Amino acid sequence: MGKDQTVLFHSTIFGPIHSRRLGVSLGINLMPDDGKVCSFDCLYCEAGFNSQGKGSTGLPLRDQVRAQLEGKLRAMHANGDPLDVITFSGNGEPTLHPDFPHIIEDTLALRDKFYPKAKVSVLTNSTMIFKPEVAEALKKADNNILKLDSAIEETMRLIDRPNSKDFTVEKVIDTLCQFEGTGIIQTMILRGTHEGNKIDNTTDEEIQALIAAYKKIRPREIMIYSLDRSTPEENLIKVEKEELTQIGRRIESATAIPVQVN
Ligand code: SF4
Repeated sequence: MGKDQTVLFHSTIFGPIHSRRLGVSLGINLMPDDGKVCSFDCLYCEAGFNSQGKGSTGLPLRDQVRAQLEGKLRAMHANGDPLDVITFSGNGEPTLHPDFPHIIEDTLALRDKFYPKAKVSVLTNSTMIFKPEVAEALKKADNNILKLDSAIEETMRLIDRPNSKDFTVEKVIDTLCQFEGTGIIQTMILRGTHEGNKIDNTTDEEIQALIAAYKKIRPREIMIYSLDRSTPEENLIKVEKEELTQIGRRIESATAIPVQVN
């Protein structure tokens, strides 16, 4: 697909998707159905680059999300379908939705009603955790999965391409400390090039910097993973499982924090 890659999800509620990693997962996309909205523009984003535009449908309203989720959960429950997790991801960054805190509350209430054993997970790029109401909402989710792809400013800017100049590695690491013991830090490990710049967050310097950041944040868990699907920047290379496992072991022994390698 490459550069012309566009959004993955054409609805607010999607799935359920069966995955080795998550089990049976129902997705919630709080971004448009026909475009992408994100405060990052990651080279590896499976939803494509932000330049594809934000589409025309806009963000779903809180009441629409609640009604659609309730309808889906009710139907799945009546059918006897299993559900392990409700996951916020989709065509961009879920915490950019202005009603994200209320939507989390609605989702937890519906989960309790229909599937009390299912978990609620949020995949976030950590750009909105500076807002107390977003941070508090994230703390209510069972799995609060926060992105930190590099602890070196230049590399983070190269891989994640934040929209804001004010977003820095130093500030985000400091702010991630509020999730000590509860958050899960997720790091994409990759190599490649983009517009002539070399990208490699597997070097000794990068791993040392990540270890120092993880030690400071002290999350409940660290997840490292590499590319899975095609990416909008085509010159990226997946780091294979064996090498990822070695990196994971190194991080785990240096931090004493459990590392999951996907
Ligand atoms: S933060 Fe997530 S949605 Fe946003 S550009 Fe990166 S991978 Fe895509």
